[in-house]
Amino acid sequence: MEELIIYSIVLGVCATIVLYYIKSVQKSSRKVAAKIEKAKEEGLFEPVSLHPVIDLNTCIKSGACVKACPEKDILGILKGGGTLINASNCVGHGACFHACPVEAITLVIGTEKRGVDLPHVSEHYESNVEGIYIAGELGGMGLIKNSIEQGVMAVENIIKAGIPKGDNGYDLIIVGAGPAGIAATLTAKKNGLKFLTLEQDTLGGTVFTFPRSKIVMTSPVELPLYGKMRLYDTSKQELLDIWNQALASNGIQIQEQTKVEAILPHDGGFNVLTINGEAFWTKNVLLAIGRRGTPRKLGVPGEISEKVAYRLLEPEQIEGKNVLVVGGGDSAVEAAMLLGVQNNVTLSYRNEKLSRIKPKNRDNIMAAIENGQVHPRFNTNVVRITSEKVFLSGEGIDGELALDNDLVYIFAGGELPTEFLQKAGIEITKRFGYTMKKHAK
Ligand SMILES: Cc1cc2nc3c(=O)[nH]c(=O)nc-3n(C[C@H](O)[C@H](O)[C@H](O)COP(=O)(O)OP(=O)(O)OC[C@H]3O[C@@H](n4cnc5c(N)ncnc54)[C@H](O)[C@@H]3O)c2cc1C
Repeated sequence: MEELIIYSIVLGVCATIVLYYIKSVQKSSRKVAAKIEKAKEEGLFEPVSLHPVIDLNTCIKSGACVKACPEKDILGILKGGGTLINASNCVGHGACFHACPVEAITLVIGTEKRGVDLPHVSEHYESNVEGIYIAGELGGMGLIKNSIEQGVMAVENIIKAGIPKGDNGYDLIIVGAGPAGIAATLTAKKNGLKFLTLEQDTLGGTVFTFPRSKIVMTSPVELPLYGKMRLYDTSKQELLDIWNQALASNGIQIQEQTKVEAILPHDGGFNVLTINGEAFWTKNVLLAIGRRGTPRKLGVPGEISEKVAYRLLEPEQIEGKNVLVVGGGDSAVEAAMLLGVQNNVTLSYRNEKLSRIKPKNRDNIMAAIENGQVHPRFNTNVVRITSEKVFLSGEGIDGELALDNDLVYIFAGGELPTEFLQKAGIEITKRFGYTMKKHAK
């Protein structure tokens, strides 16, 4: 009898635990399902670029991918296993891919619905144009580690292909100084090439523009002339410091603020033309320009100034300023809202209303306008920018309106790398769901 009571108690406890477990799984599944619905409403469910695809037959619902992802609500666990939620916020760093204990995750670029333009690249990293090579995310391969490794391998392949002695000009021009371009630069130096690295912005590439300082590197990577970078959970600053140190200690100067505008075949090599009007002849070109393109400029007087920017870094550090945000897309309204918290922000947009933004942003910007955090100026254009003012023209303005101004943020779209590549003769194919698994070690 006593034994029966003990068995019943044990059984009861076990049943309660199982029931509790089932209930909590159901509860969290319901939460994830609600988040998916919201993501669909807000247009965030469809991935835009590199993203994980989960094989539900292999997934064991360990939740390791969810824990490993440093972004918020990209992945969740739904009844059947792992699932994507706000997939269009995925930045493709692949922490989930590495964390999965059963290899149920594949990294894929593009989806069945939304294709991604990728250039043709051979196994030697050469494009269809002989002498023009491609490394890093431009070729479809995200992640800092992969970009570094590709930058190294591309230059090694260029050397293997043979560099004629005694040519005037450069052996190699590297375009872009993100992780791929920096690694290529160090490899070129290590091998004694005559090279030049041109960067349209500042050293660091996409890493420099990260809206967060946390960076995930899942395994060590060898940086030429520096050694092994053993970083796992690291910061943007630590990475930039390493790159700056590796370049400086080898006497390498990257030419920043130099956008390459055209690459023209010339005399057995290429003329590389920059926005500053320079022309350099080189035998080979390595394109390490990533996939984020070049921000479009307004072309107004005073635009080339330190107070004018095309991306928003660390908004929390900007306080008590008169700020003009230009544009009417998601980036512009998100920046205006972030800056509006502790600054006097005017939003100038050339159209009469904000029609191409996510529903969530529309609600939030309307609230920010109503409570006076953002002052909209629809149907206006920037005429010129001076050190203390910015001048607008357009609806409701007689002549020009002068606003006190400390900072201008311009979000006027950008030129995609696709256009730049096509001008250089590089073939592009739209890929729908192209698998990156075999590369993303
Ligand atoms: C928000 C965010 C978070 C991320 N987090 C991580 C992470 O934690 N871990 C990780 O491994 N990866 C992460 N990634 C991905 C990683 O940043 C990229 O895969 C990597 O930076 C790609 O390197 P890249 O050198 O190929 O290109 P990029 O870093 O994009 O660099 C390309 C460079 O080329 C320059 N350029 C472009 N066009 C021209 C031109 N015409 N002339 C001259 N220069 C030009 C650009 O200005 C840029 O500096 C993240 C990405 C984002 C957006």
